[in-house]
Amino acid sequence: MAEQFKNFIDGRWSAAQAAKTFENRNPANRNDLIGLFPSSSGEDVDAAVAAAKKTFASWRLVPAPKRGEIIFRVGELLRKHKEALARVETREMGKVLKETRGDVQEGIDCAFYVAGEGRRLFGETTPAELPNKFAMSVRTPVGVCALITPWNFPLAIPTWKLFPALICGNTVILKPAEDTPHTAVKFIEILNEAGVPPGVVNLVHGGGEEVGAALVRHRDVQLVSFTGSAAVGREIAAACGENLKRVSLELGGKNAQIVMEDADLDLAVEGALWGAFGTTGQRCTATSRLIVHRDVAKKVTEMLVDRARKIKIGDGLDESVEMGPLINDTARQKVLRYIDIGKQEGARLIIGGAIHDAGACANGYFFQPTIFDQVKPDMRIAQEEIFGPVLSIIEITSFDQAIEVLNGTRYGLSSSIYTADVGRAFRAMRDIEAGITYVNGPTIGAEVHLPFGGVKDTGNGHREAGTTVYDIFSEWKSIYVDYSGKLQKAQIDSVE
Ligand code: NAD
Repeated sequence: MAEQFKNFIDGRWSAAQAAKTFENRNPANRNDLIGLFPSSSGEDVDAAVAAAKKTFASWRLVPAPKRGEIIFRVGELLRKHKEALARVETREMGKVLKETRGDVQEGIDCAFYVAGEGRRLFGETTPAELPNKFAMSVRTPVGVCALITPWNFPLAIPTWKLFPALICGNTVILKPAEDTPHTAVKFIEILNEAGVPPGVVNLVHGGGEEVGAALVRHRDVQLVSFTGSAAVGREIAAACGENLKRVSLELGGKNAQIVMEDADLDLAVEGALWGAFGTTGQRCTATSRLIVHRDVAKKVTEMLVDRARKIKIGDGLDESVEMGPLINDTARQKVLRYIDIGKQEGARLIIGGAIHDAGACANGYFFQPTIFDQVKPDMRIAQEEIFGPVLSIIEITSFDQAIEVLNGTRYGLSSSIYTADVGRAFRAMRDIEAGITYVNGPTIGAEVHLPFGGVKDTGNGHREAGTTVYDIFSEWKSIYVDYSGKLQKAQIDSVE
């Protein structure tokens, strides 16, 4: 009998109103059924929002340093359960253990980083323009927040949203992706054990169109924090716009790595492999374009193909495996479609391009590491997010052309340049249109104490992590205290 999981509302595990469920299976082996999860409805969303709304009244008054202590305990528990959590993640979404351990570590780092913010959350004091008057600004919580998350970082992304939301005094409803509900359950268990009070964090499983959309449209939800595809992000932004609701969006990417002719080629190839094929190319920051100077293009391509050929594909729970499966069949069909598109557009497929179903991989959604060369910057494979292990090599002949090609997509999340020329490095830092730029490092990877997010269609101007995330999850309030004992009028009485 498959294990049946529940929602978590107002501090209790509870079945959804309707008895419908959905299956969660291991993408490395479809025969491995992880469990059944509730296909929740609008009624479950109503219950979760009501709990979060009721609890907001008390949680917002808990001193922020105390809220920070609870988050610190969450960090300690995540550390204690790191290995078990990594295994849960790998089993339900496929990336290799080394990477899921990293995913949990990101959650731990985030907990310790945000816990300390409980003793900061700094506002400003500033002189008033009138005598005997005091002026300051403080952060206040926003209210009930809906956190809608994707499956590719099933623990890290929820922590990036949830800890800052909580430290600022908000209450939340987490709606995890349908492909990774088990990690969310484990995360909630840890939040409980750490002493997060009932109603502060609520979990509702289910589909985007049912649960996600109901949260976005709910009148008692003040803020939507979304990470996922640009298509869904647009819908959410429109719905939030209609209701004048605060919304932060972290969307897709078409990230590029530039390799100039003066680069350390071993380093650049190492970076490109990790960037393109880490997490089977399913990272928002994945390297999907390699922009290489013509003088070194042949050499770089040969080195890449040689290394890509040796990547060991398989079940991520096997420590020797380097690349796991794609998340599901829809994703695999999408990658296959782009292989056809690339060929039709005239790009040359030089390695991979097919499903990998040899031996033990027969029951999973595996795909070969794939590289196209002779790619033109405006081809669809160089413009659209494929979200799979597919790298497009584009040749350029100058630094200026490299920057132009890199900037020539509608996305702007991560970017990278490999060069030994400090002048080029600084020009790249200035001229690349992206939220993240690496010099002599791959496009993937982020540290929690720096802002994370992108420009153009990658988002709507917000940045998670860093100090900037608190601007998403708090409102600024300006406070004036007039102790002059008389009516003083700003701009009127202060004029000479
Ligand atoms: P997705 O947009 O399909 O789903 C993301 C979440 O939104 C899921 O929980 C889903 O159930 C929910 N959802 C779907 N339709 C909805 C609707 N109409 N209303 C409300 N919620 C809805 O994305 P995905 O396939 O889970 O994730 C992959 C995408 O996420 C890629 O495009 C990737 O680039 C992006 N991503 C971005 C970042 C970032 O920080 N920029 C990080 C990770 C992933």
